[in-house]
Amino acid sequence: MKEYIVKIKTLTPLWTGNAECKIENIRETGIIGSLRWWYEALVRGLGGTACDPTKDKKTYEGDKHCAVCELFGCTGWARKFRLEIEEGDKKIVPDLRVGARQDTQNRRFRTCAGIMSDNITLKFIPLRKVEDVEWWLLRKTIEIIESYGALGGRAAQGNGVIEVHKNAKEENNLFKQQFRTFHKLVKENLAEQSKCTNKTQAVPNLNPLFFMDFQIGFKKTISDLINQNVFWTKRSWIESKKGWNDLWDNYSVLPIAFHIRDAIKRCYENNDKRHSIFGKPGQGSRVFVSHGYKVKDDTVKIRVFGFGDEELMNIIRSKINNKEELSSKLFTGNTYDLIKNITMNNAKTGEELINEIKGAVPE
Ligand SMILES: [Zn+2]
Repeated sequence: MKEYIVKIKTLTPLWTGNAECKIENIRETGIIGSLRWWYEALVRGLGGTACDPTKDKKTYEGDKHCAVCELFGCTGWARKFRLEIEEGDKKIVPDLRVGARQDTQNRRFRTCAGIMSDNITLKFIPLRKVEDVEWWLLRKTIEIIESYGALGGRAAQGNGVIEVHKNAKEENNLFKQQFRTFHKLVKENLAEQSKCTNKTQAVPNLNPLFFMDFQIGFKKTISDLINQNVFWTKRSWIESKKGWNDLWDNYSVLPIAFHIRDAIKRCYENNDKRHSIFGKPGQGSRVFVSHGYKVKDDTVKIRVFGFGDEELMNIIRSKINNKEELSSKLFTGNTYDLIKNITMNNAKTGEELINEIKGAVPE
């Protein structure tokens, strides 16, 4: 294949910077890092093993690499492709701050920032031969990010939900062959390339992940709610209102990831267990919650995914389905009766997703 082109639209702001820097452009390193994470999760999910380049010494011999390093590169082995990014009609989302519920851990506010664009082009240009199975895995990776995950950084804080522009022609021709020979390719390639193994727990892997999608309908339009100052923000509402209006009117984003996190975070009374799931300074979260993105004038969707079992899924579902509890975190007072309905659209374990991927392959 000469090149692989994917066009995407952002549904919540895309973040590709680091903690401190403000970003004005979509950074290639941020996209590649994220793609690599999901690619690795997919490879492991399908039964391949991959090394953890941050922890492992080189354990492979000669030019043998794990399936992930093989495509994405590692010390002494260059990435097989170059990524060109066209940003389309990009807009930089203004830095909107939402105050934390509790002033714990010196975190007084959380920010919603990043880049929105209806038409980002990712162009994967091979620098050496990219095998069919690698194109297939890469394409599947992007599909998984679109349907269940998030692209780029700050996914735990709401960023990175995307939609891929459909291209029927590509659907029909490009990947048919790869799809048909999937079993053989995965078996041979993933098993053969897995010279470097890793036993740490927190590595990317679809298997221990879960994925959930909720739709929250309000009794009034979201514009009305914003104008009535009901959403929790802690900062001066006059100052915040402009930001909320701007995000909703111009980008169809409702910055409620922090509120949703607050609602589900209390699921474990035990601090250690809670920190191990929702993170603390110096240790990332294992549960990712998106901001709301528009379905209708009075309805948003949110996405929750992360590492966890069905027990955690059930807890999260019951927390989000509890109107009273969710209201107490979303709104400035407990008395608001503003949520019309909450529905769970989609929930599956990583294992179910893997079986789906495998099951879709014709024998
Ligand atoms: Zn590797």
